[in-house]
Amino acid sequence: MPEGPETHALADRLRQILVRRKILDVGFLAPALRKESAALTGQRVRGVDARGKALLTRFGNGLVLYTHSHLFGFWRIEARGCEHDTATAPRVLLRTRTHSVRLFAAPSVRVVDERQVETIPYLAGLGPDVLAPGTTAATLATRTGQPPFARRPLAALLLDQGFAAGMGNYLRSEVLFAARLSPHRIAGTLDRNEAARLGRALLAVPRRSYRAQLERAEVKPDLVSGKAYLADTPSSFRFRMFERDGEACPRCGGPVRQERLAQRRLYWCPHCQH
Ligand SMILES: [Zn+2]
Repeated sequence: MPEGPETHALADRLRQILVRRKILDVGFLAPALRKESAALTGQRVRGVDARGKALLTRFGNGLVLYTHSHLFGFWRIEARGCEHDTATAPRVLLRTRTHSVRLFAAPSVRVVDERQVETIPYLAGLGPDVLAPGTTAATLATRTGQPPFARRPLAALLLDQGFAAGMGNYLRSEVLFAARLSPHRIAGTLDRNEAARLGRALLAVPRRSYRAQLERAEVKPDLVSGKAYLADTPSSFRFRMFERDGEACPRCGGPVRQERLAQRRLYWCPHCQH
């Protein structure tokens, strides 16, 4: 499932392709949304923003396309004339003069007026986004001591979008490792230093992953053919804990343990995370 860094990197790519462009074709699979295609066709896109794991595509007439990919939704971004045939119809289709953008599988899709955006339940329930420029480590550290978060174990809290939006399962293991904290700790028992470490890791780790997403997707000219291609550059973000059970902890050498916590796999080092 895409987490905050993947969603924010996707928003960047969609922004490059869609913003200030006129959308010539708009298609929705859901019959209830088909009437919206007429309202959006011919409009220019004003902006594309990621909020947690959702995307908001804003149109010139004040309408906003809200999409959340959930577990299986995925986007295809292709140049016009190079679209791959697909077995299933897209849930959302946007075509500019140069590109086509399609969303497949089982996402949530809504079209709302700008004034209604904040009433969408997923957005209304989001905490500070770990990738938003305005979110600070101090804000996140303080939240660990506040109800309703203070009584919950970190393993559950770090998946809760109401605590910190954009977090997800691989980030959870990596953030706890960076903060040197056990997933079993109760948030409200963290002392000042521990809460500060967690706040800093909640910003640093997702941002490192986000930068790696950008490197991976960087379009470089192919010197031989002159065509652009998606460079498959190695990511500078490597899992230090995630899916490394039984390997040596990169900090202390102790064995990495896998546990199922809050219904998801979590990887941590009991020797140096307390
Ligand atoms: Zn360790």
